[in-house]
Amino acid sequence: MKYCFNERNFQSKKAVDDYIRNVRNQIIDETKNAEILPDNKWFYFLMNIVNVHNDKIEKIGNGIHSFYFIKDMYKNDQLRIKRNDLTTIDCSYMYSKITQKNEYQIINKNLNDALRHAINDQIFNYKNFQELPLKCNNCNDEKNCEIDHIKPFHLIKSEFLSINKNEIPVEFYDDVENSCKRIFKQSDKVFENKWSQFHKEQATYQVLCKACNRKKSGKV
Ligand SMILES: [Zn+2]
Repeated sequence: MKYCFNERNFQSKKAVDDYIRNVRNQIIDETKNAEILPDNKWFYFLMNIVNVHNDKIEKIGNGIHSFYFIKDMYKNDQLRIKRNDLTTIDCSYMYSKITQKNEYQIINKNLNDALRHAINDQIFNYKNFQELPLKCNNCNDEKNCEIDHIKPFHLIKSEFLSINKNEIPVEFYDDVENSCKRIFKQSDKVFENKWSQFHKEQATYQVLCKACNRKKSGKV
């Protein structure tokens, strides 16, 4: 099967992703954080990312004014759209993810972001009470230490969602000011508080280095 993007043909989705990643890096190198307006040579390329996006209609809104890149809370470069009404929204750019995602998966990802965001301060609190430097509970390494949920986050999450399955929000706010991720709407505050309380009761933590953490979650 052939994949087409930006008027080029590719043999695999991975090849498209590699192409997009390379061009994206080039754009970031050249434009830094500057706004990319329609007369910019990169505008057409970025517009094609929007054109293959599952959320195209939502991303475009009342029309695209410009694009720009910012660092998200994990220091990753995030592509953002400024619409003609000056509202902004993120726009992920992995072709394979864009074209594979359906509405259900997008809602799930947004829900996961919002759930994570709601319990961030609990993790920060735990981290603040640890002796420094942080040391891996498993191998004593001090490099790249992270806070790990002893009972995995996804289990706490799925237990909570199955108990509260009739109240799960499907719309979220865009946290442009801080994390650039989706957060719960004010009208879902009760749900958010209930989740935050549930998580506080369920979660216990340990310090793990990145390598041990990956091993634990089976991502090695
Ligand atoms: Zn370790």
